[in-house]
Amino acid sequence: MRDRFDREIDYLRISLTDRCPLRCRYCMPAQGVEKFSHDDVLRFEEIERVIRICRELGFVKFRFTGGEPLARKGVLDFLEKLPFPGYYLTTSLAVGNLDLDRINRLPLAGLNVSCDSLKPDRYRWITRRGDLGVFLRNLEGVRVENLKLNVVVMKGFNEDEIEDFIDFAREHRATIRFIEKMDFASGGPGFSSLAGVRDRLVEKGIIEPEGRHLHNSVSRYHDLRGREGKVGFITPVSRHFCPDCTKIRLKANGEIKLCVFAGENFNLRDRLRSEPDDRVIRGWLAGLIARKPYRPEGPRTRETMAEIGG
Ligand code: SAM
Repeated sequence: MRDRFDREIDYLRISLTDRCPLRCRYCMPAQGVEKFSHDDVLRFEEIERVIRICRELGFVKFRFTGGEPLARKGVLDFLEKLPFPGYYLTTSLAVGNLDLDRINRLPLAGLNVSCDSLKPDRYRWITRRGDLGVFLRNLEGVRVENLKLNVVVMKGFNEDEIEDFIDFAREHRATIRFIEKMDFASGGPGFSSLAGVRDRLVEKGIIEPEGRHLHNSVSRYHDLRGREGKVGFITPVSRHFCPDCTKIRLKANGEIKLCVFAGENFNLRDRLRSEPDDRVIRGWLAGLIARKPYRPEGPRTRETMAEIGG
């Protein structure tokens, strides 16, 4: 579906839960956030219905996120039974005792894993409770073709780990993506612009100077120089990605978010529960998508990323 600005909106990012075993400083306040009530969280059948309706609207990309999606009870049963293969998953891999064999058998189109430091003490500090060992052990067991490693770069925290991350990602057959910290209702270390990081990597001859953009991704990728692989930069702050944004979000409580920064959400959950006819829901969603803003408009959200789903 094309929106008012001629963008093809065909990507739904679905938060399966607002719960997470971590408390990343830039994502969630120390005291956590008020949890959605159990009844307000979309049931798996309802999520499956939303995906079906969005596919009818021409959506081609679906990503599951959270909170921590792998922490939701029954998530693997749900994903295994989904009649729509080729979906994406974003996870911190911070859950102990993950059933990696089952995860490796999922028909995933791609897996994004998040980790902001390769130093155990820093990892613990930024996540307030995480254990880098759990992440590393899980990562060792992951066998997924399209693996991406997401790193939020923050002032005075992990700017000195950029090159370590590039090597680490190559060792794990992953594509590295550096992300600018967005200012949400949380906290954490300060913002660090990726323009400087990128320029330094070009100057040192580590990456090629020219970047490129792929459809359905807000990253700009630069090839590694003289080595196989690429480095992605996601710069929501220093360079708005609005022209490249093709997605809308579904929060775990069934609210639709047209723009990550927007203060206004739209209640799909109550519609799903009162309206049996998919065509009515489809028409409502189509009307919403047409209204997707180009730049953050109106009051900014007061939600945390943990609630929005990244
Ligand atoms: N728990 C999963 C994970 O850690 O990947 C999925 C949810 S998490 C909210 C999704 C992504 O959002 C993570 O890569 C996280 O680093 C990123 N994120 C959270 N808060 C952010 C912020 N303020 N700015 C930029 N990225 C953020």
